[in-house]
Amino acid sequence: MAKKKPTVKPLPTLIKKNDKVEVIAGKEKGKTGKVLRVLRDKNRVVVEKINMIKRHTRPSPTSGQGGIVEKEAPLHISNVMLICGKCTEASRIKKTQLPDGQWARTCKKCGELIEG
Ligand SMILES: [Zn+2]
Repeated sequence: MAKKKPTVKPLPTLIKKNDKVEVIAGKEKGKTGKVLRVLRDKNRVVVEKINMIKRHTRPSPTSGQGGIVEKEAPLHISNVMLICGKCTEASRIKKTQLPDGQWARTCKKCGELIEG
């Protein structure tokens, strides 16, 4: 069976939903937030309260009153870094195999296991 080729090559990433990340590039640099969504096929992540954009909505029977809605715009995955819970700063993460064969993420700096 032929598999459909993705249009964007997914970059290897260890970032997952609910991770705490720091923005390392762009206008939101230095801000931290929780990952709400990972868009693997687009190499982008949506981070809570980061990269907010204003959307104008028209009044309609379904959405009720129109107005301005603020929502998060996706950031490129290379612009965020996972925050280690022990170092409490953005650090490089590596994949480590546990004695039980499971793969886990650990901080390269302190070696602490990262939950999730
Ligand atoms: Zn650490």
